[in-house]
Amino acid sequence: MEQFNQYIPDEITMCRFGAKLMQIVSQMATEKGIVIYLNGDLGAGKTTLSRGMIQGLGYEGKVKSPTYTLVEEYHLAGKSIYHFDLYRLSDPEELEFMGIRDYFNAQSICLIEWSEKGRGLLADPDLIIQIDYVDDARNLTLHAKSKQGEQIIQQLIA
Ligand code: ADP
Ligand code: MG
Repeated sequence: MEQFNQYIPDEITMCRFGAKLMQIVSQMATEKGIVIYLNGDLGAGKTTLSRGMIQGLGYEGKVKSPTYTLVEEYHLAGKSIYHFDLYRLSDPEELEFMGIRDYFNAQSICLIEWSEKGRGLLADPDLIIQIDYVDDARNLTLHAKSKQGEQIIQQLIA
């Protein structure tokens, strides 16, 4: 199964889905970490899904949108979660100055909004999550882009 669809009627369901996804992702044995690109228009729910994922791992604080900081990090359950929003990235070189390569390691789970702005400098994704508007609801399509991504989808539907 390389692709998986999920209808999301409201924000609470989005957060719950994020928590369920994170349970799977955080327990995967991995030597290179996990990289997830979150695609979708402004307001589609990329940050909301990320919040569900991060809080699903036990984080009780506020999950801020990294719109101005480019990245927010969380250290939970032996994992480093790096939540990126590259919308305001003007020059991809900024990512080089940040030491972007170091963010992709065996303990890291990288959630990346507006990954297209960092093209060429980011690690390849294991999973691409496309979020589309369906009136007030949303539709998620998960695309596996690696063996790890396929395993995540297999566990989601199991
Ligand atoms: P993005 O990061 O993609 O720009 P946000 O997550 O910041 O989007 O914002 C999504 C907005 O849409 C929030 O205001 C949220 O309350 C609203 N919303 C309405 N329905 C949903 C849904 N089904 N899933 C996620 N967010 C929803
Ligand atoms: Mg956002």
